[in-house]
Amino acid sequence: MANRFNKSFPSFSPLHSEFSPECRIIDNFSDHFSFNICDKEKDDKYYAHQLDKMILESSLSPSTAIMASDVSIKNNVATSISHTHVYNSPIIKMIHHAVHVTSTEAELFTIRCGINQASNFDNMSKIIVVTDSTHVARKIFKPSVHPYQIQSAAILSNLHSFFKCHENNSIEFWECPSCLKWHLHNEVNKETKTFNPTPLYPCKMSWDFSKKSESNDILKVWKMMFQASDLKGNQFLDLLDNDNNIIEPSYVKGGLWLKTFGHSNSLCACATRAITNHAPISEYRLRFFPRKEFKCPCGLYPIESRRHILHECGRFNGYWNLRRDSLNHFVMFLETNPSAFTFSDSLV
Ligand SMILES: [Zn+2]
Repeated sequence: MANRFNKSFPSFSPLHSEFSPECRIIDNFSDHFSFNICDKEKDDKYYAHQLDKMILESSLSPSTAIMASDVSIKNNVATSISHTHVYNSPIIKMIHHAVHVTSTEAELFTIRCGINQASNFDNMSKIIVVTDSTHVARKIFKPSVHPYQIQSAAILSNLHSFFKCHENNSIEFWECPSCLKWHLHNEVNKETKTFNPTPLYPCKMSWDFSKKSESNDILKVWKMMFQASDLKGNQFLDLLDNDNNIIEPSYVKGGLWLKTFGHSNSLCACATRAITNHAPISEYRLRFFPRKEFKCPCGLYPIESRRHILHECGRFNGYWNLRRDSLNHFVMFLETNPSAFTFSDSLV
């Protein structure tokens, strides 16, 4: 980790004047920038119509610049492209390649270049940025310390002088999900994918990229350790996700298991007992008292095993679902059978 960080270039800039209270854009020009977000609840066509309407209104004004940007990453090389449209002028295309950066950094960089270019036009009063990553654009105005501050500071300085030029100068960010295939953004999106660059020389890594590769490596180790059954335990119940893949460890949002049953302590306890087969059932007791009888209380099975409880035992909701191997159905079983794998159901 130390070696990798030695090679990385820092991107923090918390002491920059753009981040000091009272000088910040959010304090002085909060009504000069806005975000238009695609409402996931509503129809895609409705939002595409909103974008069309915005273009119709803006494209006839010589003082409005519309900038569409996108990024794609191949072989660790990020290609970021922006197209700037200004009334009666040819489209300005900008293409940048960067090695060992994250998509967030590349996205911010292309927004930075686009804004810089648009604000340099004479008599420009409005800049419209169309991007599929408004969550990245929001980082520009984030007052707390974050690893993209070098980019944010440059964009904010640029915006500062742009807003100071005239009280009506403003910037709008419009979200445009790539799946919408809305024409101006789709053009850029397609163009980013046409490049197939290969880095020729060893390159430094960005701070963010180093963190990302470090956590990817750690995840790989977790997954490898997890696949070796003697480390996770021979009795571990492998469950599938909605795409029929075996659930593997991840740190994202606490991992898939906890995301599904972590909201309830009792459910979490039952699920853990069942998954590890460390539960108050006969199959477990048999490991310590191999000569004793451990029939299932239903009387139909010689051993009360986890498999029997989950799949066959008439005491538990006889038939619960055809699918018995997915995490969602497993949790559904535990919720509809609150006595399964609990001590209240225990024989002792
Ligand atoms: Zn039974």
